[in-house]
Amino acid sequence: MSSYNFCEERNAIVDSKTCVTTGKSVIDVLMAEGLLTPMTDKAFALSRDEKVARIQELMAEFLDVMGYDRTDPELIDTPRRIAKMYVDELLTAHDPAKFPKCTSFETKGKDASFADEMVIERDIFGAALCSHHFLPYDFICDVGYVANERMLGISKLVRIVQQLSSTASSQETLGKAIARAIQLVAGVEDVIVQIEGSHACQRIRGAKSRARTATLAGTGRFGERNSDLRKEFLAAIGSERREIL
Ligand SMILES: [Zn+2]
Repeated sequence: MSSYNFCEERNAIVDSKTCVTTGKSVIDVLMAEGLLTPMTDKAFALSRDEKVARIQELMAEFLDVMGYDRTDPELIDTPRRIAKMYVDELLTAHDPAKFPKCTSFETKGKDASFADEMVIERDIFGAALCSHHFLPYDFICDVGYVANERMLGISKLVRIVQQLSSTASSQETLGKAIARAIQLVAGVEDVIVQIEGSHACQRIRGAKSRARTATLAGTGRFGERNSDLRKEFLAAIGSERREIL
């Protein structure tokens, strides 16, 4: 197990030997700053199998309370299916082991021209659960950051978005968590994350509206309302309506 510490030079938390940002260091910071849904001390007391078994029992009870006949072939495996889905797929963002391995590389030589330039990864599709209803919201996400002495591989931006959205979170908090994680792994200050989401809790119940929710989370110069960087990013993304679902 390698240790990690804060690297002043890169303004990032890095593995002290390899300069690879560790998943645990990122998750610890996000938790400490309230950017991941809070967990209790008991969060990691149960093993994966114990969680699946317990949630399976509870889902069976839920179906019983609602009066469904669990012996019906369509329902017979539903409690176990739901339990595995939540534990293995939909709620894994707090697991440091699942955080993508993010190695940054120096912007030297032929890549030197990228330093202080904006890198944008747009049209990242994802889905998360809203913390109010545990119903999904599908979203399209655009991420921008200004490269420092180091850069991230672009697929890492997509992987960070996908991994951190495996949780129950408000869209606003998710955007902030993604921005903060990119700050940490890329060792940069200026990050912006735009998310446009279509929330099932608004679509299939309540207002029954297909309205979409847009949120913007900016750090560093992107966090200043009228900054040129923020305007540049928004102009690059454009305002045409993109399909989410
Ligand atoms: Zn909701």
